[in-house]
Amino acid sequence: MALSGLEIYKLLPKTNCKKCGFQTCLAFAMQLAKKAVPIDKCPFVAPDVRVILEQASQPAIRLVEIGSGDNKVSVGNETVVFRHEEKFHHPSAIGFLLEDDASDAELNRALDEISKLQFERVGQNIKVDLIALRQKSGKDMFLAALSKIKKVVKLGIVLMPASLDTLKAALEFCGEERPLVYCSDAALLDSFAGVCKERRLPLAFRKPDMNGFSEQTKRFTQQGFSDIVLDIAQNSTSERLWQLTQARRSAVKKGERSLGFPTMAIVETGDEYQAMVQAAAYVTKYASIIILRSRKPEYILPLLTLRQNIFTDPQKPLQVEPNVYTVGTAGEKSPVLITTNFSLTYYTVLGEIEASRIPAYLICVDTEGMSVLTAWAAEKFTPERIADTLIRFELGRIVKHKNLIIPGYVAMMSGDLEEKSGWKIFVGPREAAGISSYLKNL
Ligand code: SF4
Repeated sequence: MALSGLEIYKLLPKTNCKKCGFQTCLAFAMQLAKKAVPIDKCPFVAPDVRVILEQASQPAIRLVEIGSGDNKVSVGNETVVFRHEEKFHHPSAIGFLLEDDASDAELNRALDEISKLQFERVGQNIKVDLIALRQKSGKDMFLAALSKIKKVVKLGIVLMPASLDTLKAALEFCGEERPLVYCSDAALLDSFAGVCKERRLPLAFRKPDMNGFSEQTKRFTQQGFSDIVLDIAQNSTSERLWQLTQARRSAVKKGERSLGFPTMAIVETGDEYQAMVQAAAYVTKYASIIILRSRKPEYILPLLTLRQNIFTDPQKPLQVEPNVYTVGTAGEKSPVLITTNFSLTYYTVLGEIEASRIPAYLICVDTEGMSVLTAWAAEKFTPERIADTLIRFELGRIVKHKNLIIPGYVAMMSGDLEEKSGWKIFVGPREAAGISSYLKNL
């Protein structure tokens, strides 16, 4: 569990000798708490204190990596319960459950559908991450299905073999890749863990409750194996959410290292709508990996969109480059609109201009990624800044008029902006949805 500056200060020598480059031990402790300086800067820290501080600097939830190269998926490494306390570091990995007794045609169709599950949203490519293969038949069928998966899709792999023999054969087949090994048979857990420890592979397993996980992870950790993923399995969504939340809170708030591992939720309900509702709940709290059966794009896109929103760093909103963007075949008489460089705002406004089919210029002012009203309130979207932007991007050379359309939400700045920029200001609609008809009637 992370220590506060004052807690760290109590462990330091308190001599204020300044050897660390700070005036006081307290100032050094405050920087240590922010992880802005390494502990080595103080040469007088006692060895036992060093161990305490190093342990405290480890993330509450351990980092686990699955796959390699372009297929690598990182989960865990989380340090907070709530996003606004810092940020969530790694988005929930989303994957699909396939079984080796599927026919060739079923498997081909599934892989084709999964490989198409990637979308462009607010300038980012959002896509699914994993395929989990569960053994329902013999070793040969499992290996044949694995071979097909590896040939068709470039995603991380979760192996769910039913025997040690199949596991070893599948790992030979995977070569240098780092699949996540899933053990669904408690009787095989120790032997699977032995293989994973030897090959440095992550292992997921299921236990009925948190005590079961805690005892098991303590035992594995003592044996030097800690690449662990906890499969939180419960009968109802609410029970599973409660367990996921308890695991995160215990690890982060109480420093319970035996629960400080990424978590997994396999959603197997046959009702696709319910499956997506559950998956959405687990994205928000606190599944590191979610495995689904349904792969309909109309369900997966909203799920990926939710994940993108939850896992965006709240201190760094998604931004586009401040610039003048040309929409269609805009020329010197085309209308000029202005907005902020918050990605969601930009892409929404851009989509509405495109929908109008009227060529135009869209200027994005650098508001550090804030939306229109937030930027205005924070004085990042002011008449001065807009006037400077018009000069900086040489709008006078791009168009032969001086008419600027501003968002309706900042109508109050129109007089001041006219004065400061020398441009005639037109107040556009408050909502982007009105832009298309506004432009057509201009
Ligand atoms: S070097 Fe260590 S003892 Fe000296 S001021 Fe810095 S923190 Fe304190």
